[in-house]
Amino acid sequence: RPALAVHGGAGLADPAIRDAQRAGAGAALAAGWQVLHAGGSALDAVCVAVRILEDCPVFNAGTGSCLTADGRVEMDASVAEGTTLRAGAVALVTRTRHPVAIARGLLDRGGTVFLAGDAADAWAHAHGLAPCTQEDLITARQRELWARGRAGLNTGTVGAVAVDGRGHTAAATSTGGIMGKPSGRIGDSPVIGAGTCADDGLGAASATGEGEAILRLGLGRHALALLADGRDPAVAAVEAIAALERRTGGRGGLILVDPLGRIGSACNAPAMAWGWMRADRDAPAIGF
Ligand code: ASP
Repeated sequence: RPALAVHGGAGLADPAIRDAQRAGAGAALAAGWQVLHAGGSALDAVCVAVRILEDCPVFNAGTGSCLTADGRVEMDASVAEGTTLRAGAVALVTRTRHPVAIARGLLDRGGTVFLAGDAADAWAHAHGLAPCTQEDLITARQRELWARGRAGLNTGTVGAVAVDGRGHTAAATSTGGIMGKPSGRIGDSPVIGAGTCADDGLGAASATGEGEAILRLGLGRHALALLADGRDPAVAAVEAIAALERRTGGRGGLILVDPLGRIGSACNAPAMAWGWMRADRDAPAIGF
């Protein structure tokens, strides 16, 4: 039953970084799968996978995040588990390399679910995560895209969904947001029920795409509701993205897993890197 899927964001693809994104997704799947294969939890698997993607500079999360209109990195992330519905979320993180690790820390402590801005970085540094600078997070590639004024949706947000051997589900999502976004803007990725959602009775979801549209629909919860009555995640994902388009006109993508280990994905943007791994495969499947 264990299964793991990751995505590398919906949007305009950049052929120049496709191979590097494929390699990054493969590394994230391998590390997350190692956790599940050893009997670890879905929660640990999604956090390990997303952390690797945050470190991979060709994804728009952690190092390599896109820039705001005024040329800064402001990152959002969240993690949720489907057994007791614990969750952690952060927005507008500017001085910590792994926003998903802050979200996981909040989930583990079980008090505050959602912190934003300086408070999120301060909480991280008070709880053992190393501070970093904006220069540590900004890559030459993102600086150049920003200087050319390339605003809008590019692939690169990252997410993971998993079910473990006990049938527990989890999801995590991390992003730099949308290139050229106004400072202070928060998208769907850190919002439980929109960008990230997990419920052991239904499954787990991680979304990517136009955050404003995903927030308005509540895409993650909408997709999980479609998994009721044993509907196949492959069908539910397509229906959820169709609803996103129909109700909001928005573009985005989604990965889904159900408690049986069935996986689905859908996307109505030009491209979405994604991949998955399950016990019935020798190696991860990765595609765009
Ligand atoms: N959903 C993210 C946001 O709106 C962006 C993305 O997925 O590319 O912040």
